[in-house]
Amino acid sequence: MSLSQLARSINESPTLKLNETAALLREKGEPVIHLGGGEPKSKTPMDAILSCTALLNSGDIKYAPADGIPALKKAIIRYTEEHYGRNVAASNVIVSNGAKQSIMVLLHAILDPKDEVIFPAPYWVSYPEMVKLAGGVPVVARPEDGTFQPTIDDIAAVVGSYTKAIILNSPNNPSGVVYSKQFIAQVVELCEKKSLYLIMDDTYNRLIFDGQTPTNCYDYAKDLTESSKLIVVNCVSKMYAMTGFRIGWAVANKEIVRAMANIQSQETSGPATPSQHAAVGALNGIQSSIDSLRMTLENNRNVLVARLKAIPGVQVTKPGGTFYTFPDFSAYYKDSQKLSQFLLDKVRVVTVPGKEFGMEGHLRISFCGTLGDIKQGTERIQWALDPNSANELYIGGRKMVRDWA
Ligand code: PMP
Repeated sequence: MSLSQLARSINESPTLKLNETAALLREKGEPVIHLGGGEPKSKTPMDAILSCTALLNSGDIKYAPADGIPALKKAIIRYTEEHYGRNVAASNVIVSNGAKQSIMVLLHAILDPKDEVIFPAPYWVSYPEMVKLAGGVPVVARPEDGTFQPTIDDIAAVVGSYTKAIILNSPNNPSGVVYSKQFIAQVVELCEKKSLYLIMDDTYNRLIFDGQTPTNCYDYAKDLTESSKLIVVNCVSKMYAMTGFRIGWAVANKEIVRAMANIQSQETSGPATPSQHAAVGALNGIQSSIDSLRMTLENNRNVLVARLKAIPGVQVTKPGGTFYTFPDFSAYYKDSQKLSQFLLDKVRVVTVPGKEFGMEGHLRISFCGTLGDIKQGTERIQWALDPNSANELYIGGRKMVRDWA
């Protein structure tokens, strides 16, 4: 079959594929523990459900503006004021099918062929493919000191004449690391100086621990006029545990938003209106679900980090946010895909290979599941890897015998 060059150049989303693999194995009755997931276990907030069902009950579910319904834009304007201290207009806001589509239409709106987009490693798996889909060239900035905390020098080292944009995601998927406020301030300054677009992917911005406060990039911007190239992307997916609703948004200058809206209107039109109504409910409703999610995640993190640290040779950086850790398993396997497959084959634990995030030797291990899964999953991982562990382990009532060194 003749497929386009573009189609042939794009890789499948490895995280979505792992979800499928885990579901298929579970269907077959395999005792799978999914530590590769990217969504909280908690339920949709009641205010979101009520708002959504009120629309459904009306039976009046019709086309809506391509850049979002006015009620949701209003809720986002209020959210931006409350959490970023910034007053924006409806024409500065576009609502999309998840943060993913906001980033995608944004890249379509700003990139010309060969334009480069920089992001630090480790990075969210989708950035390289999304940049390529938009005709651009992904450029990875690798922290020189091997940590997950990039420096302005790491970024500046890869800025060149083709650089069009920088994407920052803090706290970061997959490392969970919160970038320092100083670093964010320096990147904002660099982008203003060099007239680069700065895309702040704030998907996990409020899922932070240890009493930290979310970083507000606008605090460091000198230019907050309609010529600002600073774009902030958010969504209800993680914060409100509403991944299936597919609602995200971007706040940007009017010209960018207009261009994004044109593209979105031709590609998909606006997101489904029941989902938009659900997001209105979530944003305007009782906010306690975020605090309780944050507390659950912080506790899960503490348990996971302690257990990973107990595995000899595994290096763990304690995540300051998100629900991911990105431990270094290179003492056991340098090839993260092989390691991930080994853990799936031998002890039925799903993890995501670090290679997908631009760093070999690591695995992304999530703590958004249950404490039981975290405890059992890490017990299985330790058993599979640690040569000093017992010869046998019971998994789902089945006796497993170590037949590997
Ligand atoms: N950015 C990052 C860093 C993410 O991890 C994700 C989801 N995994 C997204 C964006 C996309 O979010 P959404 O589900 O709202 O499209």
